[in-house]
Amino acid sequence: MVVKELTINQERLQRHMDELSEIGKFGETGVCRLALSKEYKMGIELVKQWMEEAGLQTRVDHFGNLIGRLEGKNPNAPVLMIGSHIDSQPTGGRFDGPIGVLGGLEAVQTINEQNIIPDMPIEVISFCDEEGFRFNKGLFGSRGITGQLEEGELEKKDRDGVTRREALIEFGANPDELASSEYPRGSIDSYIEMHIEQGPVLEAADVPVGIVTGISGPLWLTVELTGAAGHAGTVPMKVRQDALVGAAKIISGLNQIVQQEEDAPTVGTIGNLTVEPNARAIIPEKVTFTIDLRDIDIDRRNRYEAQLRKYIEETAHENGLQFTITEDTTIIPESCSEEILQVMRTESKAMGLDVIPELTSGAFHDALPMAQVSNIAMIFVQSKDGISHDPREFSTSEDIAVGTELLYRTVVKMGTGV
Ligand SMILES: [Zn+2]
Repeated sequence: MVVKELTINQERLQRHMDELSEIGKFGETGVCRLALSKEYKMGIELVKQWMEEAGLQTRVDHFGNLIGRLEGKNPNAPVLMIGSHIDSQPTGGRFDGPIGVLGGLEAVQTINEQNIIPDMPIEVISFCDEEGFRFNKGLFGSRGITGQLEEGELEKKDRDGVTRREALIEFGANPDELASSEYPRGSIDSYIEMHIEQGPVLEAADVPVGIVTGISGPLWLTVELTGAAGHAGTVPMKVRQDALVGAAKIISGLNQIVQQEEDAPTVGTIGNLTVEPNARAIIPEKVTFTIDLRDIDIDRRNRYEAQLRKYIEETAHENGLQFTITEDTTIIPESCSEEILQVMRTESKAMGLDVIPELTSGAFHDALPMAQVSNIAMIFVQSKDGISHDPREFSTSEDIAVGTELLYRTVVKMGTGV
């Protein structure tokens, strides 16, 4: 496969990637840039400066998002938005998020250098707190501008007891002015995000980039099972109400439920489990665990959720346990815009990419809430061993450049029609 000459500036993009990864750096390749932290602010300031050098009008809104705007022929036309996030997990890597922001910037900077004036304004956005680690709720900036924040979110605290409200003020935003940073309905035409794949498909196919057809929606539940504690040596097996035995059955039950349809992308995970009293010689009295259920097909996900809820009820009953199920988050899966996909297919061919895999995203992204108000599309860049949220996260400069070129071409096509 020969990729034709790039219009975008790979060397500049690489330099931006390298410089940004110095902020919050730990070890050789780790990045810790938690949302609204000192490092986050430094990162935002740096990218803002690059946006200004690229000729964009910049602003930081009250959600903590950074926005750089290139004016179009019609300033009142709905915006074409490109972006991702630069906040990270506590032990994150250099690529998850930044390639979409800096790739977006590179695409728009190139448009400006090529003296292309798009029909509509183009905005590059770096969304605040995509990761959700600090306040246990992510996609903050993208839910914010689209009017999807929930009651009480500003009062959520981080591990040091700092509320999101306090963190926003510390960052320099005004949490009482959030409404002024929302985009009115109809004012965003499309949102395009480039992101690392965080999975194995592109590496296995040995291709630099792929295009995304849809994003899985996660359902997050917390289940609490309560039985009875007792002496591990004296209480006979037949009369026990062991909450962990119930949890074990539910864990394998979930595993079976999500695998009923061969080749379906449904996934289910119990990733966090707390046992009380958690002692060798005491029968577990209470077990609390999380469930993460994702699918691209909401009907199938709903079906599996119903089966799972029934299974939890039956299992609790059989084991003499009380149970509660709390819904923490439910997000509907979204399809990407067929129109933008078609542009990407055509442009990737024109670039000399003969194979462009089309895949679904199991991870959620800022594109998911954006889909509520606009068309969305995503480009995935090959990521080594599918690793993310880890210092070992890696994508090559060449692959990121190819993804950025496709982003640039897609935006030019959408922005000018040629
Ligand atoms: Zn990300």
